[in-house]
Amino acid sequence: MKGQDKKILFPIGDSFQVIESSGEKKIECLKCGYVYGAADKDPKANSRMMERPVTFTSSLNGYGMADRFVIREFYCPQCGLLIAANTQLKEDPPFMEMSLSI
Ligand SMILES: [Zn+2]
Repeated sequence: MKGQDKKILFPIGDSFQVIESSGEKKIECLKCGYVYGAADKDPKANSRMMERPVTFTSSLNGYGMADRFVIREFYCPQCGLLIAANTQLKEDPPFMEMSLSI
């Protein structure tokens, strides 16, 4: 992110860092600087999602209830960094799991 007032506050894992810019705390991609949005919102909301069948990770999953589940992978829209992956019921909405209160 460009900006003279950008201050890096702290990293989160291998995918994100929290920054402060123009008085607002935001989450950005640790690899490329793409700004996902406000720090109190899950970065998945502004990522790119791809769905895969559960048999993608193991053919053994085909012996279970493979038709009921899906793997959802979330990527940085600018550099393609994988930021999360969840296995969920197909009918459930994408799982939002991160919200910082700083
Ligand atoms: Zn990125």
